[in-house]
Amino acid sequence: MTVAFLGTGIMGAPMAANIAKAGLDVRVWNRTRAKAEPLSDVATVAGSPSAAADGADILVTMLADGSAVAEAFEAASPASGTLWLQMSTVGLDWTDRLAALAEQAGVVFVDAPVLGTRQPAEQAQLLVLGSGPEESRPAATPVFDAVGMRTIWLGPAGRGSRLKLVMNAWVLALTNATAESLGLARALGLDPALFLETIKGGGLDVGYAHVKGGAMLAGEYPASFPAGLAAKDARLVVEAAGEEVDVAGAKAVLAHLEAAVEAGHGDEDMAALYRAVLKER
Ligand code: NAP
Repeated sequence: MTVAFLGTGIMGAPMAANIAKAGLDVRVWNRTRAKAEPLSDVATVAGSPSAAADGADILVTMLADGSAVAEAFEAASPASGTLWLQMSTVGLDWTDRLAALAEQAGVVFVDAPVLGTRQPAEQAQLLVLGSGPEESRPAATPVFDAVGMRTIWLGPAGRGSRLKLVMNAWVLALTNATAESLGLARALGLDPALFLETIKGGGLDVGYAHVKGGAMLAGEYPASFPAGLAAKDARLVVEAAGEEVDVAGAKAVLAHLEAAVEAGHGDEDMAALYRAVLKER
């Protein structure tokens, strides 16, 4: 089984490495080739999307957003019958557009975004939200098993991206709530660390608050999930909600993330929205 893997960023590089370690033949492509080169021990580094996809059975995309995925897919021009596992977070409109591109090309489209960040990707502990034709499951499973601890199959393509947005609304809200409670503690003259100590071990506790809150307290934001991409995801949540439901919280997170990005912190972890909460310039 040959896998063409497009996009070796924070998530894609460890995912591609884990697919190769599982025994599949992997060809990687990345726009900035230097980020694909470290994979040359386990995979073939291709100079173009089409060189990666030529003769491959499976195409995996793990790129920043919908337009990057569409561009890479068109450049890859995979053969009819190729199985496309689209694992980037692109939202609902783009998922429909990508499914249409796949149909035109005779490619089987599986919408399969992931939950988990840099470390779970490195440890092959992602949660895959798979959706697509039932008959694609046997071929997709070795790839999903190589990158994740579990795959949830949700039915027709599009459902994976729907659940991904639901989960992202939760993740973004937790990060923002952590930042606001830490910021408020500080503004009220308390040691902000008291917030994390006080929730610890009780019914209000959640591990994520300690991970992101720890980064906020340290003022150190190496990217697990870059703020620029988190802003993209908050926008996708707001767009998907439309007029159906009031996602005022997601809009508030988006405002903080946009402020952090505008201040030049888009490549830092999304925990850097704490800077916006503190009104840092
Ligand atoms: P990342 O490290 O910033 O990687 C982004 C990738 O997209 C890089 O390979 C980048 O190439 C490529 N790219 C961006 N614009 C492009 C364009 N116009 N044409 C071609 N390639 C382009 O981000 P990541 O965290 O790995 O995220 C990848 C996807 O996974 C995103 O959809 C993200 O929302 C999703 N995701 C991320 C996490 C997380 O915690 N990090 C978790 C779940 C899902 P260059 O190297 O050349 O810039």
